[in-house]
Amino acid sequence: MSWKCKYCGSVEFIQKFTGYHNPIFDKNGEYIKYSYQERTYENITCEECGSSGKYIKEIAEWVEE
Ligand SMILES: [Zn+2]
Repeated sequence: MSWKCKYCGSVEFIQKFTGYHNPIFDKNGEYIKYSYQERTYENITCEECGSSGKYIKEIAEWVEE
């Protein structure tokens, strides 16, 4: 069972994201914690043919095998 690209049948997809957090450091510069984090996801892209969409459903179909 897997998502397969509608256009080429590939099951490999990539999704880039950009993100940030507001780290808090101790006096040695070590992380104490991540106080907040945010990620923004880019389109999901088929690694094989390059088709992309905001949602996996736009570019791929769930195939039960
Ligand atoms: Zn594809």
